[in-house]
Amino acid sequence: MLVLGLESSCDDCSAAVIRETPEGPKLLSMARKSQDEIHGPYGGVVPELAAREHLLQLRGVIADALAKADLPLKAMDRIAVTRGPGLVGCLLTTFSASKAMAWREGIPWVGVHHLLGHLNAARFGAPDLPFPALALLVSGGHTHLYLARDWTSLELLQKTRDDAAGEAFDKTARMLNLGYPGGPIVDTCARKAAKAAAPFTPPKFRDGKASWSFSGLKTAVRLRIGQEPGLDAAGAEDPRVGALCRSLQETVASWLLKPVPGWREETGARSLVVSGGVACNSELRAQAQALAAKLGIVLAVPEPRFCTDNGAMIAAAGAVLAPSDEPLSLNADANLPLGA
Ligand code: ATP
Ligand code: FE
Repeated sequence: MLVLGLESSCDDCSAAVIRETPEGPKLLSMARKSQDEIHGPYGGVVPELAAREHLLQLRGVIADALAKADLPLKAMDRIAVTRGPGLVGCLLTTFSASKAMAWREGIPWVGVHHLLGHLNAARFGAPDLPFPALALLVSGGHTHLYLARDWTSLELLQKTRDDAAGEAFDKTARMLNLGYPGGPIVDTCARKAAKAAAPFTPPKFRDGKASWSFSGLKTAVRLRIGQEPGLDAAGAEDPRVGALCRSLQETVASWLLKPVPGWREETGARSLVVSGGVACNSELRAQAQALAAKLGIVLAVPEPRFCTDNGAMIAAAGAVLAPSDEPLSLNADANLPLGA
């Protein structure tokens, strides 16, 4: 089965063609347009600009993916598109286009929950993943731990109370004037650092509920920057900046993984998936590997190009979901609940 996957829930416009085989999905092509240059000056995604840019990019990105796969649109057996959650203007662009293409060519169509896409990114490297799986999905908008009983279901175990983990990276880079998006820059600085600055203190929750919080970490980073005159203008090569970045990512990685052994015990999970943009982080990948080895569970961390938002993960999820009977009556949903 050939699947065209489309994703434009935030600032990346991406299309991919996969072939679904009994051995799992094979990527035939992927095209992607980033908007980092457009949003960089604002230090974050401007929704209206992102949606307009998707409108301009969409046709080219889809044409590019089909051309690279050397296949016409009508060869597709299915079109899969992100239905939500995300920025509604951004979602609507590919959502509407995908429905029109499917209707015109008579191709079965499926709307995909963005987080099921992030989970299914793991199918490329681990098609035989043993379930149940713990799925740690971490990005600029999500910091959620789920129990997945198969590739099509996610049950929430815990999530952040406030900011997503990706936000801590993006805001740190912004406070240090290192550029945008912050995650990859902080990661590079941290890897070059000879040593880490002091670790950050984890938050304590009075209600004892399993969750994370990253907004205090942002404040703690700001206070540390304030304590060292000139640090915010020192640049990526300054060893103090490197030490701070290293300490930040060591902290974030250890906080994210801390609840995993407890949930593993409670759920009997046999594997751990770490996906979403923050799963590109070198320290998180290393710590996840060490933890999975210690717990004796299978680890699936997708290749970085499948971790950040991309069309391939949507195609991979679209291949295991049932196509919709009435695509034309469905709409994109900025707050799409799981299971909708
Ligand atoms: P979602 O709707 O799932 O929240 P998103 O718009 O945040 O999607 P993703 O591509 O899934 O998009 O994730 C982007 C986030 O990942 C950004 O916050 C970015 O800084 C972060 N990120 C990317 N690479 C790294 C890295 N190497 N280390 C840490 N964070 C990273
Ligand atoms: Fe995402």
